[in-house]
Amino acid sequence: MKKLSILGSTGSIGTQALDVADICGDIKICALSANSNIKLLEQQIRKYKPSLACIADKQKYNELKSNISDTDTKLVSGMEGLCEVASFNDAEMVLTSVVGNIGLVPTVEAIKNKKKILLANKETLVTSGSIVMPIAQKYGVDILPVDSEHSAIFQCLQGKGDNKISKILLTASGGPFFGKTKEELKYVTKNDALKHPNWSMGAKITIDSATMMNKGLEVIEAKWLFDVQPQDIEVHVHRQSIVHSMVEFCDNSVIAQMGIPDMKLPIVYAINYPKRQMPVHDRLNLFEVGTLTFEKPDYENFDCLSIAFESIKRGGTAPTVMNAANEIAVAKFLNDEIGFLDIPLIIRKTLDAHAFKDNINLDDVLKYDNWAREYSSQIIL
Ligand code: MN
Repeated sequence: MKKLSILGSTGSIGTQALDVADICGDIKICALSANSNIKLLEQQIRKYKPSLACIADKQKYNELKSNISDTDTKLVSGMEGLCEVASFNDAEMVLTSVVGNIGLVPTVEAIKNKKKILLANKETLVTSGSIVMPIAQKYGVDILPVDSEHSAIFQCLQGKGDNKISKILLTASGGPFFGKTKEELKYVTKNDALKHPNWSMGAKITIDSATMMNKGLEVIEAKWLFDVQPQDIEVHVHRQSIVHSMVEFCDNSVIAQMGIPDMKLPIVYAINYPKRQMPVHDRLNLFEVGTLTFEKPDYENFDCLSIAFESIKRGGTAPTVMNAANEIAVAKFLNDEIGFLDIPLIIRKTLDAHAFKDNINLDDVLKYDNWAREYSSQIIL
């Protein structure tokens, strides 16, 4: 049995990982955490019987505690609880599928306890790649990507040897608004933005996908995972989401990974790496797909992508501040407080106002993350 703990088990990736466990039958669930969905977490506790569970929202602790008092699962809460799940003794691997920079500290905790990291929480590397990658190296821990593009790149790199990557061709679906101008984007609604053409994902990442910030975050994630420079990462809009990303080598040969858009593949691949196991989703039928197209991204109308490239080139505290402001702006948009084009506006204002610092440590990241959340919450447009 493979022993797995999941941070964020009630979210989109968390529930799909449990589906994978159901299909494969050789994965033991050791510990689970959820943010606030106590109903679903209780069902998961009853079904998977983890030794430990955490409800991050402390206000929900007592209710869940009494609801599961007849089970053998120990319940904890808050950030300490997330860290307890991340470092729980029995597990050999931890899937980090929480949303946002809240995943950073538990991920570091898991690394220090020598857990293999199945990384679905891209914000960890966006804000702290320069800190987390050396810690993983120091503890001899593998970080396996559970982001479809990064899993694709990782798969393309099998058999790479000491050959050099010359470019990463990162594919993007373009989201629901590709082809729209700023004038048209002004009036798009939350419901329009939540209708992703190809992928079924959580609300935050679906909005990030609509603004193209998701691709910006993924450029930064790729830089840290694969040790490439941002100028060597090229975003290719590929509307069909069949090619999940590509690597170009020094001889101009390009290797691509393809499949139907289904997150269960990156999940099961990371769990079983380097082995490949039974299929967990349908076959790709290229006759049905017919055509694969590739287009340049629209940096003019989708400011978030340009902001992300600028932030990673600047480095230091810039990606942390950008990410925190984005989290706040997306939450406001989902709450009908701001318009779609206000998202990049808030991010830019927060970046412009921040006291830039290079050479950051973990405390700096937490401090700037906090500052940017407060600052961006108070921006009046
Ligand atoms: Mn992705």
